[in-house]
Amino acid sequence: MKFLSRVGATALAASLYLQHGIAQMADGTYTDQTSGIKFKTWTQGTEATEASPFTFGLALPGDALTENANEYLGILRCKIEDAAAPGWCGLSHGQAGQMTNALLLVAWASEGTVYTSFRWATGYTLPGLYTGDAKLTQVSSNVTDTHFELIYRCQNCFSWNQDGTSGSVETTQGFLVLGHAAGSSGLENPTCPDRATFGFHDAGFGQWGAPLEGATSESYAEWAELATTTPETDCEGTGPGDAECTPAPEKVYDYIVVGGGAGGIPVADKLSAAGHSVLLIEKGPPSSGRWGGTMKPKWLEGTNLTRFDVPGLCNQIWVDSAGIACTDTDQMAGCVLGGGTAVNAGLWWKPPASDWDYNFPAGWKSKDVEAAANRVFDRIPGTFKPSADGVLYRREGFDVLSSGLRKSGYKEVVANESPNEKNGAFAHTHFMFRYGERDGPLATYLVSANNRDNFDLWTGSAVRRALRTGGKVTGVELECLRDGGYSGEVKISAKGGVIFSAGTFGSAKLLMRSGIGPRDQLEIVAGSKDGETFISRDQWIDLPVGSNLIDHLNTDLILTHPDVVFYDFYEAWTAPNEGDKERYLNNRTGILTQAAPNIGPMVWEEVTPSDGIPRQFQWTARVEGDGRITDSPHAMTLSQYLGRGVVSRGRMTITPGLATAVSEHPYLHNAGDKEAVIAGIKKLQAALNVIPNITWVLPPPTGTVEDYVNGLPVSPSARRSNHWMGTAKLGTDDGREGGTAVVDLDTKVYGTDNLFVVDASIFPGMSTGNPSGMIVIAAEKAAERILALKA
Ligand code: FAD
Repeated sequence: MKFLSRVGATALAASLYLQHGIAQMADGTYTDQTSGIKFKTWTQGTEATEASPFTFGLALPGDALTENANEYLGILRCKIEDAAAPGWCGLSHGQAGQMTNALLLVAWASEGTVYTSFRWATGYTLPGLYTGDAKLTQVSSNVTDTHFELIYRCQNCFSWNQDGTSGSVETTQGFLVLGHAAGSSGLENPTCPDRATFGFHDAGFGQWGAPLEGATSESYAEWAELATTTPETDCEGTGPGDAECTPAPEKVYDYIVVGGGAGGIPVADKLSAAGHSVLLIEKGPPSSGRWGGTMKPKWLEGTNLTRFDVPGLCNQIWVDSAGIACTDTDQMAGCVLGGGTAVNAGLWWKPPASDWDYNFPAGWKSKDVEAAANRVFDRIPGTFKPSADGVLYRREGFDVLSSGLRKSGYKEVVANESPNEKNGAFAHTHFMFRYGERDGPLATYLVSANNRDNFDLWTGSAVRRALRTGGKVTGVELECLRDGGYSGEVKISAKGGVIFSAGTFGSAKLLMRSGIGPRDQLEIVAGSKDGETFISRDQWIDLPVGSNLIDHLNTDLILTHPDVVFYDFYEAWTAPNEGDKERYLNNRTGILTQAAPNIGPMVWEEVTPSDGIPRQFQWTARVEGDGRITDSPHAMTLSQYLGRGVVSRGRMTITPGLATAVSEHPYLHNAGDKEAVIAGIKKLQAALNVIPNITWVLPPPTGTVEDYVNGLPVSPSARRSNHWMGTAKLGTDDGREGGTAVVDLDTKVYGTDNLFVVDASIFPGMSTGNPSGMIVIAAEKAAERILALKA
């Protein structure tokens, strides 16, 4: 399905255009014959027709362009894809029409009535109920076989506040950026709007700019009087109730590891291998079939495989992430057993020595981690030929680009055999797959840990905070978030420790909820639902948790070439090609053993801008374009990651509702970073221009690279790669004394005796490639140091 290829076009990172989701909207006007209300409208598509899937219109008070309005009269007209499987449509009022941290309005039709619900999302998952004071009253509604229409008054809708997280848009700017989304099915509890649940926006989403000129009217007050109706609702016995948990068993452990992802699984395995009793607590459900996971498409039913096991299904995370993505952060992260290593595209890199030597302090240089790196790659070697028959399927994309790279003097390498060749080199993509299935920590470290009697694994159980008196941690307190999880407290032995491995956002949040972090953030926790039981101010440890936030800045180029052909991995979810399906199920061969959407080649380049600091780039090519920019089945996207050497940093903070947010993005704050990005693009374009019949789509052939880069939006939704790191930086400059580090060289949190952080949070700087391999190495190294500390 072509549409899905647009929706889910990020395999390993967010694709610039897809996640930014600029919608094509035709503008116009519409006067409702019954009420007389005149709307300025925007209709999805190149022209406004009766059949259009989505139309939104608004009318504003007469003075809205000079005096900010906080209400409007709206019209929503949405397509009903299938009356038997009711769908929904929705609107984001946010500053950039975004899904998270903005007032969302969701509407649907049931039995001739149009229902609405205000929602709020802190992550890319089903939005919860909005609890602010927005109010909707209906003027009229109409439901046909193909569409439903709602005319309504929306009060307190241009400013919002959810548990202290606030935002607003200003009509006096004369322009709004709105977002729309629609789902074709999956609506539950339609007559109880507060408890209604709905599926992913599989019928489209995007943002658009809405100029307000012509939308105001002096008749507004008169029209607003017509909004008098609120449909009757029926909430008897429906909807999800509060989670029910079981009291945690009264068992004491030497170590409790919080979070079963790239960092947590290896460290738990190593500590238990040393003879200590270890509890690994993961808040998400099992993922891989090996661990009891059940989420799968129909064609995997009857097998022990889940969507997480089959490489060709990895992009499904961008289509349907409900129950998988973390709900307490505004960025994409996997909250299932395995964390990011369960949901990611499996790119698996042995880092170059310079990634350690440049970013890490003494004690963590490449020579110090060499043995740990070897242990990791002995256990998880990965492969660049995932199919069990050793054949690379649909390699046209690789062949076309590599022909140009070779001609332009780039060296072809086997990436993980020559990890240091990262300048002017290219390679096939290396994946942590084995025998055509996802491998990695879930299939190695967790298996050996689980074979030991001194190791316990709890899934579906969340940790709220560490229990501590001064610097001494005595255990963890649990939080009941999921039916069947554990609640209460778990204690550690006198010689024991607690290790936070909950990811860049999760571990930073746990630290803050444990009274460790900058004062402004701890004050927010003190004012939250945690307040009453929050550790007292005299025990707070002031550390720069959340600073030093980094991610690979992603800049996409798009080209076409007649020899390159798109393979529809998205369709493989519902209707896989029969031959490909059989090949996969029978002997783990074929294209479904390869990560979507046909990734490769990888290219590495170093660029030194005028500030003299070398910047490392990794290019990831994939056979996929972007429907908004080119529908060509011959398109390829090349994503440029700005890695080691990047100077820009951002900040993650906690909200009063105890979600985390990227409050300051980490992209292009530094002139040298931008200069390098531009130079890197020019270099690669020049190298590829030797390929006959290549056509550049982005950057547009008519402009300069400078124009292109300067014109691109710079925000997480536009440029992220989902390789977030750095919020609990490792270093010798103790953050309590004005330094930048949160953990010391043993990964122990400054000011504590036995609290550690082992995951992506501790990275001082950015890696060259996708980071999971380097995080697992860091976990191996951290376990070694924690054990040595004890000795
Ligand atoms: P995670 O792996 O995220 O693990 C954290 C775990 O902690 C999660 O399982 C979470 O549920 C759990 N947790 C959080 N809070 C709590 C709590 N309070 N109590 C209990 N448990 C908790 N990297 C690559 O190398 N290659 C790729 O191809 C790649 N593609 C990616 C694609 C996507 C969609 C994403 C999101 C990431 C991708 N990455 C990739 C990045 C990589 O997966 C992450 O950098 C890595 O997994 C981070 O490891 P971590 O241990 O820090 O956190």
